[in-house]
Amino acid sequence: MDKDIRYLKGVGEKRAELFNKKGIYTVSDLLYFFPRTHEDRSEFKKIADCAPGETVCLDITVFSPVRESRIKGKRIISSMVACDDSGSVSVIWYNNKYVKNQFHTNEHYILYGKIDEGRYHKKEMINPIAERKDKQRFTGMIVPIYPLTEGLTQKLVQSAMEQAIKEYGNISEYIPDDIREKYKLAQINYAMKNIHFPESFESYTIARRRFVFEELLTLWLALSQRKASSKAAAAPVFENAAGIREFTNSLPFPLTGAQKRVINEICTDTKSGRAMNRLVQGDVGSGKTAVAAAAIYLAVKNGAQAAMMAPTEILAAQHKESMDEFFKDFGINTVLLTGSMKAAEKREALLQIADGRANVVIGTHALIEDRVEFKSLALAVTDEQHRFGVGQRAKLSAKGDGVHILIMSATPIPRTLALILYGDLDVSIIDELPPGRKPVKTYAVGEKMRKRVYGFVEKNVSEGSQVYIVCPLIEETEASDLKNAAELSQKIQQSFPKLCVGLIHGRMKPKEKDAVMSSFAKGEIDILVSTTVIEVGVNVPNANLMVIENAERFGLSQLHQLRGRVGRGNKQASCILIAHGNSEVTKKRMETMCISNDGFYISEQDLKLRGPGDFFGTRQHGLPEMKIANLFSDTDILLDVQKAAADILTQDPRLESKKYEPIKKRCESLIPPDIVLN
Ligand code: ADP
Ligand code: MG
Repeated sequence: MDKDIRYLKGVGEKRAELFNKKGIYTVSDLLYFFPRTHEDRSEFKKIADCAPGETVCLDITVFSPVRESRIKGKRIISSMVACDDSGSVSVIWYNNKYVKNQFHTNEHYILYGKIDEGRYHKKEMINPIAERKDKQRFTGMIVPIYPLTEGLTQKLVQSAMEQAIKEYGNISEYIPDDIREKYKLAQINYAMKNIHFPESFESYTIARRRFVFEELLTLWLALSQRKASSKAAAAPVFENAAGIREFTNSLPFPLTGAQKRVINEICTDTKSGRAMNRLVQGDVGSGKTAVAAAAIYLAVKNGAQAAMMAPTEILAAQHKESMDEFFKDFGINTVLLTGSMKAAEKREALLQIADGRANVVIGTHALIEDRVEFKSLALAVTDEQHRFGVGQRAKLSAKGDGVHILIMSATPIPRTLALILYGDLDVSIIDELPPGRKPVKTYAVGEKMRKRVYGFVEKNVSEGSQVYIVCPLIEETEASDLKNAAELSQKIQQSFPKLCVGLIHGRMKPKEKDAVMSSFAKGEIDILVSTTVIEVGVNVPNANLMVIENAERFGLSQLHQLRGRVGRGNKQASCILIAHGNSEVTKKRMETMCISNDGFYISEQDLKLRGPGDFFGTRQHGLPEMKIANLFSDTDILLDVQKAAADILTQDPRLESKKYEPIKKRCESLIPPDIVLN
């Protein structure tokens, strides 16, 4: 299984490199390279019984040799006549100079392709897949179709796979027999053969279920092992959780039930002597900042320092302001640390952080620079976690010995997914908004409605509100991102000559962004044209309308985040999505935004409509890519996996017995111990 694929018959050094591009190095990698789909080439028909449009296998004899003719320059058309005992068919290839020598009169072949109707109602087959009858391999059966890269052909992968299964298909089982029996899972050799070359679609389904189960179970067990070891880290005990009342009672609003519950969970975690590792998920506006403040208060009252990291300077500054307001009566000293601060300010901040005068440090990535040294860091809060890379959060918590970790996220994901994605974190959910919040009214319109949309913008501004107009990142480059936003803002300014139009985008220096943002917050700008930089956390209560251009290009969760920027005041807020294109998926997605204000529902729909690639293809989580499981549609299997994992872990929490050796090994190869999660 660990053998290099170059030694497989028909592969060799050159072709092995093509496989390497797909991450396939060993026979085992190859066997676990699952087909994208299957093509049913099992149906044979007589020529006379075929109707145009049908895709079939024909068992034929060549009647006339291949003739080539050329049209327009270099294009070659090759054709021959083939027959069986019911009739004949013209077989045609375009631009294939090899077929001429491939077919011989009176010999037998299998053709697989679509039957068309040619001139004079004659039957034709164009560019079929053809094999000599005595060398038949990939016709007359259900054939796997693999995702390819340049240079790699279906036939090459199919042949290599056939070889690999023939020579190495005798794999030892990873899943213990009792688990396999209880959850009705196919044995690995049967499954391996049938995932690639199934006898029938039923046997494919059986095989697939086994591998989805295997993949999720290994991931689950691997994460549980990690969770067990990360839990063991010691961290300071935060006593006197009751004292937190003093803080929560001082807030200008009563906490929601969900906020109270999460704060209690944090108190319990931090009292245990082991490091807290908690993810708090809550929809935009659910009040995560107050929860973070409570945790920070607890840390500071216990004589420790707390740090809070935010993804942008604007957001860090806003958090600093909120914290100062929250803590004004408690003699807690907060310090800001961002990249754009003046050298002297920064020096002073660093000094205060190092000698402990700073109780709370709020900042951006600047917090994780090497020269930042804390006196006694014991709580690290990361806000809007999806904006940070895998290692960055770990870097912050490495700045103290035994640091409690609290991660805030507004990207809600269904609980089953959270269990897998954040397997080594405990998850809290704030599933309640503060009372009196009016949901943002959302409308989806097409380009034709632009005039009316602008009329609505005008009306809003004349009534004293401010407006966001958001445009998407068309391409990944920041330069085109800038051009796009800049052009739009010019057009908008032309459409509203009397209004003040501002522009903010990702290319601006943090200081410039701050200036624009605070000018918007002060009400000096009527319409702010922006790229998605405003997506996270910023609070401008007077902004009541958001127009989103090319809304079809955004993820639904992202749209939901964006519109969370409006409706922070008392007025009814609206969001207008300008979407292009008429595809069913686009329509459904826009409709989802219009009918729901529930981030969890929306992200579930997002997954359904887009597939899970977006959660799993990204750098957000540091987990391995799913090879076969679809974490949305395979939730049934996931629930069984959850039970099976419990069966296993109650028997043997550390997977130490011989019985679990094979699966433990697979767990370790799946998530190498040196990868830092979350
Ligand atoms: P998010 O979860 O998106 O970070 P914030 O913490 O920024 O949300 O809170 C959004 C707004 O709601 C803030 O203005 C905050 O003061 C307010 N808020 C938070 N909790 C409550 C509550 N329990 N009751 C009323 N308003 C609240
Ligand atoms: Mg927030």
